[in-house]
Amino acid sequence: MKKGYRAALGLVLIALMLMLFTGAYFREETAVSARVLLAQHGETSVYVGAQGLPETAKMTHFSRQTLLKGQLLYVNQQTPLPQDMPSQQARNVRKMVGLYVPAAQDVSLSEETIYALCDLCADNPLLRTWITAGMRAPSEQHALQDAAFETYRKTMTTAAALSAARRDVPDSGHSEHQLATCFDLQFTGALDWSCQDALDRGTDGLWLRENAWRYGFIRRYPPEKAMLTGVQNESLHFRYVGREHALVMQATGWCLEEYLDALHTYGALTIARETGDVVILCVPMDALGAAFPMPEGYSCLVSADNLGYAVCVLRGD
Ligand SMILES: [Zn+2]
Repeated sequence: MKKGYRAALGLVLIALMLMLFTGAYFREETAVSARVLLAQHGETSVYVGAQGLPETAKMTHFSRQTLLKGQLLYVNQQTPLPQDMPSQQARNVRKMVGLYVPAAQDVSLSEETIYALCDLCADNPLLRTWITAGMRAPSEQHALQDAAFETYRKTMTTAAALSAARRDVPDSGHSEHQLATCFDLQFTGALDWSCQDALDRGTDGLWLRENAWRYGFIRRYPPEKAMLTGVQNESLHFRYVGREHALVMQATGWCLEEYLDALHTYGALTIARETGDVVILCVPMDALGAAFPMPEGYSCLVSADNLGYAVCVLRGD
């Protein structure tokens, strides 16, 4: 009797272990196959991984030079722009579209950025806004840093003045203002100076906070992300990155640093939206460039990120 009891207990234990094992197995299976939702924004969801891409897709190679013309090049005081970057094509905003986009006289930006600004101004003419700075030539960046240095030198030692000037104005080759997609804003009219964040002081700023991403713009250095961006004095600096990248950053609340980090980690993100899904792929780049799967009927937009990776936005048109 005792023997039978032991055998039964043994069987029950084995059954229990099997149940536990298979349960854990299935849980893991489900976790892998389920879509990992990163963020939801209105009707739009952002998932980890490439969803819905056709299995058969030809690999297409993009040259380094093509990738360096993209919208996602990362640059900061530690990461200079690539030496072999193709020269940026920029046009004077006022000469191109007059005051339809409210820019100061000498502001130059890429045509694509100006067109995106035109779309934005069609919905909100930004009557209390000025675009005060756009693309700068390396020599202009250098001159700006020199001027800051001269100002600081009046009250500081040379070493302290140099470090303060470099903190305020990045070295030539290290500034986003050497990309034709970046610009600074200034707001005019009645401003609520009790607001700490410059974007909250006027109606245009508040509107841009909610809507700039719809046109492909990001606020590049939000004050609350200063620890990640390392930049504190550019709270009204915007950058055109294209609608898909801007949408993901808006939905997730990521700054560019966090977004590129996520792309490096996940390798692929999917934007699921009413107007059609978009897949964003990210692969390491080599000296010649990078290759992406290109399913038939899909359009793509590629860019290097200047951190060793290339990114591709795939839209099923
Ligand atoms: Zn700026």
